[in-house]
Amino acid sequence: MAISAWEQSTYFAPKDVVIIGCGFVGLWTALELINKYPKMQITILERGVIPSGASTRNAGFSCFGSVSELMYDIALMGEANMLETVKMRYDGLQKIQRTFDKKVIDYDQFGGYELFEKNGPYDIQQLDKDIAYLNKILAPVLKTPKKNGKYVPIYSNESKKIKQLGFQAIEALAFSPLEGQLNSAKLVLALQQAVQSKGVHILFNTEVKKFKSHKKGVTIHTNLEAPLETKQLLICTNGFAKQLMPGLDVVPARGQVFITEPIPNLKFKGTFHFDEGFYYFRNVGNRLLLGGARNKDFKNEKTYSLDTSPIIQKTLEEFMMKRILPKGSKKPKIELRWSGTMGMGKIKKPIIEEVQPNIFCAVRMSGMGVAIAPIVAERVVKLMKG
Ligand SMILES: Cc1cc2nc3c(=O)[nH]c(=O)nc-3n(C[C@H](O)[C@H](O)[C@H](O)COP(=O)(O)OP(=O)(O)OC[C@H]3O[C@@H](n4cnc5c(N)ncnc54)[C@H](O)[C@@H]3O)c2cc1C
Repeated sequence: MAISAWEQSTYFAPKDVVIIGCGFVGLWTALELINKYPKMQITILERGVIPSGASTRNAGFSCFGSVSELMYDIALMGEANMLETVKMRYDGLQKIQRTFDKKVIDYDQFGGYELFEKNGPYDIQQLDKDIAYLNKILAPVLKTPKKNGKYVPIYSNESKKIKQLGFQAIEALAFSPLEGQLNSAKLVLALQQAVQSKGVHILFNTEVKKFKSHKKGVTIHTNLEAPLETKQLLICTNGFAKQLMPGLDVVPARGQVFITEPIPNLKFKGTFHFDEGFYYFRNVGNRLLLGGARNKDFKNEKTYSLDTSPIIQKTLEEFMMKRILPKGSKKPKIELRWSGTMGMGKIKKPIIEEVQPNIFCAVRMSGMGVAIAPIVAERVVKLMKG
């Protein structure tokens, strides 16, 4: 299709910034840029009919890490890196709540729990010690709320609640009152509306095939007939980053999820983690949303495919019946099953850098992009020109 003169002077006119990817990172960065530079001409290119990465396909947790996850992160990348990442997550979650009305994004702060089984990978004998240690090092860094001059504990041991919540074969329970849940697609839509109301264009169904940096900026080739010109290009394609930049340490990681029919008398509200965060579940009203188990089949979950797999889905169903729902419960019908693509790497930190002159990237959000995207946006904007 040949473009018209009107289209050439608007949709396809040279831009100041083109962003690839209309997920949380692309959208938060567009918002950050347009707030800082209100006259900036910005276009987001998205290959899906709707955003088609992890942002509308996750579990809707607004979480900053469970006890065993953070202890694992310290072992993996050291205390300083863990603290930096948790601070990004916590600050990002605060920014989401400052930017959008809780009702618009279905934000609820029911708190978050971590479940521990006997003889599991985490030594339950360590729990109280680890909770005390994390509370001590995290509170001054995160600047969490205080009561009577003292920090409100970020984590506490709530093992006494196991029976009341109906879980099976669970020996210990850690709780954080600061964790919440939201509707991720409503947050994406709210961000879309916010940036569009300030003049940012979003072109859906537009897949970037390649780009080339030159003296004046960057030429971008897409499935559209005419190339696009921009002064600066920002790549926010997360788990798909290697498709455009093969040299980056980003591996796709599929996360699978299902949601049940309504369960009468569902015994809990909140977000729940198990096995260092590899399993996660929450209530959505009185339905159960459960996801994870990627560690059951790591090799086959390193994929761009958005199908679900029988091995993971069966593992999740067993987990639901043997751990989450009270013994003897009737198996609920599974209403929807889906998956989303995360971006992982050797360490659990995002890549935020200028990869070529005038070409920037903000990718590899691991299982943390809901939370860290607003802060990643601030950081990448600091690298870019106004
Ligand atoms: C099941 C699951 C559970 C999760 N749980 C949590 C959680 O509890 N807490 C948390 O903080 N995070 C969680 N995450 C991670 C979080 O959803 C992601 O980190 C976050 O959404 C990443 O946002 P993004 O904008 O970087 O990438 P994405 O949302 O993946 O967006 C990238 C976009 O780029 C587009 N794109 C790719 N290539 C091209 C191209 N060539 N041209 C044009 N467009 C292109 C894609 O279509 C996509 O829309 C979870 C993810 C999944 C899948």
